[in-house]
Amino acid sequence: MDCIFCKIIAGELPSKKVYEDEKILAFYDINPAAPVHIIVVPKLHIESLNGVNPENIDYISQICLKIPEIAKELKWGYRVVTNIGADGRQSVNHLHFHVLGGKKLSIDLG
Ligand code: 5GP
Ligand code: ZN
Repeated sequence: MDCIFCKIIAGELPSKKVYEDEKILAFYDINPAAPVHIIVVPKLHIESLNGVNPENIDYISQICLKIPEIAKELKWGYRVVTNIGADGRQSVNHLHFHVLGGKKLSIDLG
């Protein structure tokens, strides 16, 4: 499958890893939008949040549990974003959560 994040998960493309377990990988975004910008992905290829269902919800619930751990160095607070579809500015069609922080973030969400 021609998916950048699946290639990163498989180790076919390099990444600067932050956290990894059997279901989740977290790595630094190549083009950071904040001083700290981490991408958290399920190791299972799911297109977006729209592809979450009762069979794969276990991956997503693990991500919800782990993001606060992964972000614990971000003591000023942080933001979690997942873009969905072209109009939602999703550019990689593998579900991912942006974890942004390291400064007081902009109020602009849209
Ligand atoms: P989206 O726009 O789909 O919500 O987010 C995709 C993110 O993946 C972007 O912030 C982009 O900078 C990041 N990205 C795209 N390709 C790579 C890559 O090869 N390595 C890393 N580390 N990040 C990537
Ligand atoms: Zn993928």
